[in-house]
Amino acid sequence: MESILVLTHADETGTALTKASLETVTAGKELAARLGAELRIGIVAKHASGASTQVASAGAKLLAVQGERYAQARFASDAAACEALWRAAQATIVLAPHSSRFARVMAAVAYRVGGAIDTHVTAIGGTEDVEATRWFYRQRIEAVLARTARPWFLLVETGINAAFAAAGTHEPFAGEAPHSNVDEVAIAVELPPMRTEVTGFRAPQQSQQTIRPDAKLLFVAGAGWTKKQPDGQVHVEEAGKLILDFLAGSGASLGSSKSLVDQGGEGQSVLPFLTHLNQVGQTGSTPRHPKGLATCCHGEEPHVVGWRFIGERRAVSLDPNCGWTRGKADVVYVADAFKVMAKVNELMGSEG
Ligand SMILES: Cc1cc2nc3c(=O)[nH]c(=O)nc-3n(C[C@H](O)[C@H](O)[C@H](O)COP(=O)(O)OP(=O)(O)OC[C@H]3O[C@@H](n4cnc5c(N)ncnc54)[C@H](O)[C@@H]3O)c2cc1C
Repeated sequence: MESILVLTHADETGTALTKASLETVTAGKELAARLGAELRIGIVAKHASGASTQVASAGAKLLAVQGERYAQARFASDAAACEALWRAAQATIVLAPHSSRFARVMAAVAYRVGGAIDTHVTAIGGTEDVEATRWFYRQRIEAVLARTARPWFLLVETGINAAFAAAGTHEPFAGEAPHSNVDEVAIAVELPPMRTEVTGFRAPQQSQQTIRPDAKLLFVAGAGWTKKQPDGQVHVEEAGKLILDFLAGSGASLGSSKSLVDQGGEGQSVLPFLTHLNQVGQTGSTPRHPKGLATCCHGEEPHVVGWRFIGERRAVSLDPNCGWTRGKADVVYVADAFKVMAKVNELMGSEG
């Protein structure tokens, strides 16, 4: 008989669970209902009571590790906390969000308790047995895995894309009426000596956050924005303004082709708000948005493979023979993206 533990962690407030954690709670609840298995939720937070309240109506026994040590991500304390939660729950199946915080500790936790782990899980199926779905080779092959090893840890991909069910993943658990005075069982952790103190974050200077995983639209900028245009000139400043105006008006997330972000290293004209974090594709990210619009991008396979989980794809390219027109997009506008985006911004009233 399986028993299920969902491991969760708080966000930067230290009290509320992350969206990814709540999505994993939904996955755990669904799996427990299907298998008729007992469900426990383990919480790692600075203050666990707020998090407990959020998941109180999930029908699970709540276990919590809390304290100042767990306010921020750190391998030693997070791994010890997750191990202690598992030892208290002794579950056969452990689900955890594939967040950066848990992704870096969970393989160690599985090893410490003699278990197995699979990552990037997009769906969990099976009625008698547990079956985990994930993609391989940069989303080119989808596989369904079953294991006899227990405990089996599954890191569940985050993000929702209702338009494309194969992306899997789950709605965040919303619960019913908020409960007060929820009792979570406090779990003691034996912490090893802490060699790392988190003193703060340093991030590259960016004028604004352009990567928005929850946006309805992914807007991709390709290298064409910085290439010579029909008048024989490059128009990088104009390109930057058109793109930023569109992002401001639409709330879209900004993706890029590899060629465009690579240009920075080659000393060519680049859009200053783009980094390699924006890169979509085989050696970039695989974002999950219901819709995508590619502009000035050729739509080559190593780029388009990053669009696996984009529901509806459109592209604006000058080249009628580009990859998008060869079956990679639902709609292709063979047109000048400078003109198209200027018109779109005008219609949205977002030209600055
Ligand atoms: C191992 C490997 C891994 C790779 N990984 C990735 C990856 O992760 N992500 C990725 O993106 N690429 C990746 N690539 C590179 C990929 O193959 C392409 O080279 C890259 O995607 C091309 O970028 P692009 O389409 O922006 O540029 P280009 O190929 O230069 O295309 C620019 C396009 O813009 C169009 N254009 C120009 N001006 C306008 C205008 N005014 N209006 C409309 N259209 C215009 C042109 O017609 C052209 O089609 C990888 C390659 C390899 C070998």
